[in-house]
Amino acid sequence: MKVRLENISKSFEKGKSILKDISLMIDDGEFCVFLGPSGCGKTTLLRIIAGLEKEDTGTIFFNDKVINSLEPKNRNIGMVFQNYALYPHLNVFDNIAFPLKISGEKKEKIKERVLQISEFIGLKEYLDYKPKQLSGGQRQRVALGRAISRSPQIFLFDEPLSNLDAKLRMQMRTELYQLHKELGTTSIYVTHDQVEAMTMGDKIVVLNNGIIQQIGSPFEIYENPSNLFVATFVGNPQINLFTIDSLNLNDDSSSLNQKLILNFYESLKEILQSNPVKIAIRPENIFLKPVFPHSIFLGKRKILTIEYMGNETIVNFEFNKELKSFRTNEKIHLNQDEYIDIYLNQDKLIFFDNNNNKI
Ligand code: ATP
Repeated sequence: MKVRLENISKSFEKGKSILKDISLMIDDGEFCVFLGPSGCGKTTLLRIIAGLEKEDTGTIFFNDKVINSLEPKNRNIGMVFQNYALYPHLNVFDNIAFPLKISGEKKEKIKERVLQISEFIGLKEYLDYKPKQLSGGQRQRVALGRAISRSPQIFLFDEPLSNLDAKLRMQMRTELYQLHKELGTTSIYVTHDQVEAMTMGDKIVVLNNGIIQQIGSPFEIYENPSNLFVATFVGNPQINLFTIDSLNLNDDSSSLNQKLILNFYESLKEILQSNPVKIAIRPENIFLKPVFPHSIFLGKRKILTIEYMGNETIVNFEFNKELKSFRTNEKIHLNQDEYIDIYLNQDKLIFFDNNNNKI
């Protein structure tokens, strides 16, 4: 099922707009993630698609049919929430069977379907258990089972993994993704967790203050952020920011490398003419040696902290009294307070104008 939103707007109080002119398209079978900080309107948008909230303006299409006036129960969607929303007095069997009973399925058919689903979600042995006898991960699987029982055409997930601990979350992320691949059902997934968005999404819609900031694949969002908000919201450690003045490199250490600086300005002449005010670079594009044809020497900088993570090391250093970071997977020995040479890969710089849009 394709989902298309055209010019959706919503406010709960007069003058306080929660969603502003949202237009987007989700392809059949796509896994689309709404990503953004708390309060940006993700859940409201999901609830509008579900029919649980009424949009003020705009049109919702499922395939090419306008469905604005359809009741939630007639939209053929399966929803999974953060708090599982299971019926505590019903066992696993009856929780999964509930939507089927409501829709008047025959008893035998229900039994067959619940057994099939419980096998699918790995809870066949737990059909008699009540929710409180299950772990968080198992409860969320029951919620999933209930959502898929009626074979909906669209899945809507509202931060379904945020009540789980880190390890379980990772495991459930994989399970959910596999489930999606197996069923091939169009899915919309709300999260403020960029790792979830990056690892699961075919397409990410980044929202802030009720406005779409960018729509793209995880690769596009990370490598080619359309504005400063997206650049800084996605990526951990956060992307490094420099003002154009600070990279003017007029402190003493930079004069060590005038040739590189000249080279820098020469090859960036055009972009500099459009008056960038901010320059950004991801931590993996900063090095201890000039390994690229176009490197910028940032001078000798003091290491503030070192985060050894096993497969990689994150080094935080000082630049103009600000903390900047790079990551390396080289097995090098560095010490806190040590001064190190820092080089930026010039080809990986991202420039933003005074409206914070990418140049
Ligand atoms: P979170 O990640 O914290 O769940 P979100 O991006 O999903 O945030 P929403 O839940 O959509 O954000 O809320 C967006 C804004 O709309 C918030 O400021 C919230 O207070 C407001 N809001 C949501 N529902 C209502 C409502 N029923 N009545 C009034 N205001 C509401």
